[in-house]
Amino acid sequence: MENPELADRLDAFASLLELGDANPYTARAYRRAAETIRAAPSPVADLVRSGRVRDLRGIGSGIEARLRELVETGEIAELAELERELAPDLVGLGRYLGLSAKRSVELGRALGIRTADELREAAAAGRLRTAPGIGPKTEARLLEALAHEAEPRPRRGLLLNRAWELVGGIAAALGGEAAGDVRRWRDSCELLAVVCAAPDPRHMLARFTELPQIVAVVEHDERRAVGVTVDGMPVELVVAEPQRFGTALMRATGSRAYVAALEPLPGAPDAQAVYRALDLPWCPPELREEPFRGEPPALVEATDIRGDLHCHTTWSDGKASVEEMARGARARGYDYLAICDHTPAVGAVRGLTAEDVRRQAEEIAAANELLSPFRVLRGIECDILPDGRLDLPDDTLAELDWVQASVHGGQRMPRRELTKRVEEALRNPQVRCLSHPKGRLINRRPENALDLQRVFEVALAQRVALELNGLPNPLDLRGEHVRDAIRAGVQIVCSTDAHSVRGLENMMLSVMTARRGWATPPQVVNTQALRSILDGPGAAY
Ligand SMILES: [Zn+2]
Ligand SMILES: [Zn+2]
Repeated sequence: MENPELADRLDAFASLLELGDANPYTARAYRRAAETIRAAPSPVADLVRSGRVRDLRGIGSGIEARLRELVETGEIAELAELERELAPDLVGLGRYLGLSAKRSVELGRALGIRTADELREAAAAGRLRTAPGIGPKTEARLLEALAHEAEPRPRRGLLLNRAWELVGGIAAALGGEAAGDVRRWRDSCELLAVVCAAPDPRHMLARFTELPQIVAVVEHDERRAVGVTVDGMPVELVVAEPQRFGTALMRATGSRAYVAALEPLPGAPDAQAVYRALDLPWCPPELREEPFRGEPPALVEATDIRGDLHCHTTWSDGKASVEEMARGARARGYDYLAICDHTPAVGAVRGLTAEDVRRQAEEIAAANELLSPFRVLRGIECDILPDGRLDLPDDTLAELDWVQASVHGGQRMPRRELTKRVEEALRNPQVRCLSHPKGRLINRRPENALDLQRVFEVALAQRVALELNGLPNPLDLRGEHVRDAIRAGVQIVCSTDAHSVRGLENMMLSVMTARRGWATPPQVVNTQALRSILDGPGAAY
């Protein structure tokens, strides 16, 4: 078994443990182990066989035993048992239709049904309302949801990194391509789709329904199926004829408005050929939101990035040391990395005082000695206090190579006050970049009221850049804001805000979001060489 497969099985086990009201800590431990396995550089099955799997972070004896069982027998017996007991297909379908997992299981027990098809039959026979807790209103809602499947959408979007894991995993298993919202790198993905090519679709459709990620199929046509995950996320599979694969991929990728404006699409085996046949220049998927027929600019690419300007270490809430983070950045081919740990006002986690900042400088100097010519920059993620002052004295900030200013507490301040607070901070000549400007957490916290246009003006005047934070749940600024910033002449920084070496990988999310905002390399500060970062914003702007 390969690592992704092992990880998927552990994730499935975690989902079932959650459904079965197991200790939530156990389920989380399995999820973390799955993540570790996905990221492991070598085959975990080998580590299991040689008895060394517990060297991996977060894998204890309980999880080791499950992994051994999985590697030796291809199954986890308790997983199979939980699957029988909890009917994940019913749970997946129920969640997709808007029922809680618990309610779905109860419904299954009350009606004596176990599968999605049986649920449909029960609905068609008018039996749903005989189940306890299902009144006429809920029944009507379920019937409507069952009938309304033309464009299957989840109740809330999936974070981009999770969506890639899910859709990318299915695409890889079927030898197809990820499509839908992930292919456009939307920050929150609702339309999850995979496009495959096969002359005869039957085999592919059958394989799709048997994938571990898919617990039930809610729709089935000759060349298309919609399956749901145990979490109720619908995933569409399109099996195109090989000579029309490019056409199908384009239809399943662009926004509805973008595709409609290009119809009728000619049949072609790949997307490039579709554009050629339309006599249009190639348009990267992440720009296919609004109708557009022109020549896109040369957008920033991951390979343009020379360094990461926002990451944490064990000095605040990071998991790795300065040297470990720096080695991780160097291994990615960067020239520099700014260490930006928190300051005390952040509250929830440890923050660095002026004294700490000076002590950290010694560790950074030692890392630079080891890793030269790679350069570790002395940075800080300095809290902006409620009155707009910064959380460290100016003389401390002046010692540093790179200062990020961040609002953490008080995201709900009214527009005028919050904007004034941020403006005040940006006027501090030491500040080089405003972190996660809109302060959102996707699905958890809405964007703050900050007046971005006003902030752009001040940022431009002060030559401060705005961050595009690559953590999957802020992804802040988002693409539309990046576009506005660039129009205003403001530069952005693609950062990861990494709290671990692995977190540095989120640069891809940041860069792709910048591309959604039509950013080109000169508009992204960290495409510049170390020298111009050190020279200050004068040269950069
Ligand atoms: Zn922050
Ligand atoms: Zn941070």
